[in-house]
Amino acid sequence: MRLSRYFMPILKENPKEAEIVSHRLMLRAGMIRQQSQGIYSWLPLGKRVLDKVNAIIREEQNRAGAIELSMPTLQSAELWQESGRYDAYGKEMLRIKDRQERPMLYGPTNEEMVTDIFRSSVKSYKDLPLNLYHIQLKFRDEIRPRFGTMRSREFMMKDAYSFDLTREGAEHSYNKMFAAYLRTFDRLGLRAIPMRADTGPIGGNLSHEFIILADTGESEVFCHKDFVDFDIPGESTDFDSVEGLQAIFDKWTSLYAATSEMHDEAAFNAVPEGERLSARGIEVGHIFYFGTKYSEPMGAKVQGPDGKEHFVHMGSYGIGPTRLVPAIIEASHDDNGIIWPASVAPFDVVVINMKAGDQACDDTCELIYAALTKAGKDVLYDDTDDRAGTKFATADLIGVPVQIIAGPRAVANGEVEVKDRKTGARETMTIEAAINRFVA
Ligand code: ATP
Ligand code: MG
Repeated sequence: MRLSRYFMPILKENPKEAEIVSHRLMLRAGMIRQQSQGIYSWLPLGKRVLDKVNAIIREEQNRAGAIELSMPTLQSAELWQESGRYDAYGKEMLRIKDRQERPMLYGPTNEEMVTDIFRSSVKSYKDLPLNLYHIQLKFRDEIRPRFGTMRSREFMMKDAYSFDLTREGAEHSYNKMFAAYLRTFDRLGLRAIPMRADTGPIGGNLSHEFIILADTGESEVFCHKDFVDFDIPGESTDFDSVEGLQAIFDKWTSLYAATSEMHDEAAFNAVPEGERLSARGIEVGHIFYFGTKYSEPMGAKVQGPDGKEHFVHMGSYGIGPTRLVPAIIEASHDDNGIIWPASVAPFDVVVINMKAGDQACDDTCELIYAALTKAGKDVLYDDTDDRAGTKFATADLIGVPVQIIAGPRAVANGEVEVKDRKTGARETMTIEAAINRFVA
């Protein structure tokens, strides 16, 4: 992508409305724009990051055996009347009427709809277990939308829903998502700690929130500090192994970890003082097992091996991609801007032409840009005629992991400078060496 032809509206000034660093940096880097309170456009740079976050979420959901579909944002009120949640959900639900005066709503979550899909076609235990997910916009009319896309009214959610014949089966399904979440957040460069949580309006009796420790987090959390260094389940994790996944779950729930709603002061005080961590955190995921809470009122049942009908045991599993993007920034930035983990960076590398219009600089940059693009890298080429200082500031602000800097003096020697955004380390090398670093 040539910056001269891209759309990346950088702000020079600090936006006044932004209270936390991630919101400030997302606005300054031209990643998002608020359209009305708590409702955002994702501008091209932001969209790239969001897509990469979603791609990782998707890979790990698929690896764990979940199957992607897509459900609509608008739902009919009838479904929610069946489960009893139409009245219970309250003012967070945006209620709409269509031209026939039929009550509709903008989905805050999809338990009812997915249960309807399930009951319309699954009739036998032989088709279980089943886990269906989508990545879709949700709307919740939050009382206090704030911190940009961290807590917005319209936001994206990956929501998965599992169906099992028995409680034991449902626990295995729960453990699959538990392990998939550990892997997902790790690949996003985050350390998320599963904490016992309240089930809230989703209902149910087994639930964990995945929390990232951050000073700007809205939740107060308490946990054992060893969680910070626990091993993440590897790529070879066998998601069909009941024992294997149970062992992962048992390990990750063996020490104290709870949000303030579930906090047990006495149990926490039993943890040796030097090992207690009491901090603030950002909830980036939440998983629930809620048994037959929806399948019973909505009549979602299958024939079991005993020939009888059984209401299915369900769970639901949410991750917030549009909250994760600012959460990643909260965890990874410095005074100059964002520092993206390579896995979600909007571009792999930015090529900075320090003197656009200078033949040697232009030729060198074009050569590198073409070679890296051909090698499948996402390259941003700053070919604008801005001052070098402005270009460096922009590159640092948008947080691309590697900068290749081509200035007249180095280029005259057949060289460029390669800068690591995170460490700030700069290295001068031949043009060929700079290319080979990525093409290898
Ligand atoms: P919170 O406690 O932060 O209000 P919640 O418990 O209501 O969230 P869940 O129903 O558990 O949220 O939703 C699953 C995930 O969706 C959350 O873990 C979070 O990542 C994301 N999410 C929920 N509400 C919002 C929001 N208003 N803005 C952005 N992301 C959200
Ligand atoms: Mg929650």
